[in-house]
Amino acid sequence: MRTRFENIAQLVTAAGPARARRGAEMQALETRTGAAVVIEGERIVAVGPHDTLRAAHPDAEVVDCGGRVLMPGLVDSHTHGIFGKPRHEEQELRAAGVGYMEIARRGGGIHSSVRDLRARSEDELFALALPRLKRLAAHGTTTVEVKSGYGLTTDDEIKSLRVIRRLQQALPLRLVPTFLGAHEIPIEYRTAPRTRDEYIALIVDEMLPHVAAERLADFADIFCEPGVYTADEARVILGAARRHGLQLKLHADELETAGAAELAAESAPSALITSPRFRRGASRRSPPARPSPRSCRGRCSSWAAPGRRPREPCSTPGPPSPSLPTSIPAPHPPSTSRSSSRWLSASCA
Ligand SMILES: [Zn+2]
Repeated sequence: MRTRFENIAQLVTAAGPARARRGAEMQALETRTGAAVVIEGERIVAVGPHDTLRAAHPDAEVVDCGGRVLMPGLVDSHTHGIFGKPRHEEQELRAAGVGYMEIARRGGGIHSSVRDLRARSEDELFALALPRLKRLAAHGTTTVEVKSGYGLTTDDEIKSLRVIRRLQQALPLRLVPTFLGAHEIPIEYRTAPRTRDEYIALIVDEMLPHVAAERLADFADIFCEPGVYTADEARVILGAARRHGLQLKLHADELETAGAAELAAESAPSALITSPRFRRGASRRSPPARPSPRSCRGRCSSWAAPGRRPREPCSTPGPPSPSLPTSIPAPHPPSTSRSSSRWLSASCA
C-alpha cells in the first residue's frame, strides 16, 4: 500500500551526494515547494511536483500535511537524558570562562547530578525524562541515543537504564540506550579504603553482566579524559563491554588529550571520528578510518567517515571490519540478537 503526503508547505529533501556530507555541504537543505512524497512501507518511492505524483499514484492513501514542513527525522546520537535537577547555573559559569574541571572541583559537574539522581525514584526520573524527549520529538527528532551515567552504583545505573526502557515503550521515538557507568569515578571510591580499581572492577564484574543479562543497553560508553578514566582503564572496560556483546562508544579527549583517540584508533579500524583533537590523535597512529556504510533496513545509514560527526548509531550489523582490534579482546559469540560491533563512536559530552 502506498501513501502520498501532500499539502506540504516546504519539503526538506536533504538531496545531495550519496555519501556523508562534508563542510559547507552540510548547510544545504535542498528544500522544495509544491512538492509531494509517496512512500511504500518504510521506503520513499517518489518525490516530486504535487500534481505529477497525484496523477502517477492515484490510488495511494493520502496524508494531508496541513501546510506544514515535511523533513527527514533528526537523529540525536548523544544525550544524557536521564537526570534530575538541571545544572543551568553551570552554563553561566562556563560562559564566564570557568572550566569544567574547576566547576567539578567546586562540587558541580557530574558529581552534582549523581548526588541528585541517587535520591530519586525510577518513577520520578521517568516523569522528568518523558517531557524532555517529547520536546525533542516536537522539534523533529525521531531517534535518540540516551545514556545512563549519573548513578554510578549498580542499582542506580540499572534504575536509569530501566527508565530508558520504559521511555522506549511510552514514546513513538526510537531510543538507543547506552550504559555509561564509567562516566566518572564516584566520590566514595576516591578515598581509602575504597579505590578506583575497585570501582572499575564493579563495572566489569557486576554492572556490565547485569546490564547484559537484562538487555538494558545497546552500547557502553566511557569518559576517557585526564582526571577521569585513563586510556588503560578504558581499555579494560571496553574489553569487558565487548565480551558482553555491547557496542562501544567513547567520550574521547574532550577537554585534554588522554590517549583516547589512540585507543579508539587501535581498537576499531572504522572508528567514528569527531573532534579536531580526536582526528589529530587518530592520524598520528593510524591511517584514516575508511568509510563503512552500515545498513539499517532503509531507515537510516551510518557512516564511519573521517571528519564526519557520528550519526545515529545503527544497531544493524555492518560489514565485517578488515581486522579485529588487537588490544581489546574479541567478543565471545553473542548470546543475544544484538550485533557485536567493531566500531566506536567518539563525541563531546
Ligand atoms: Zn556526553
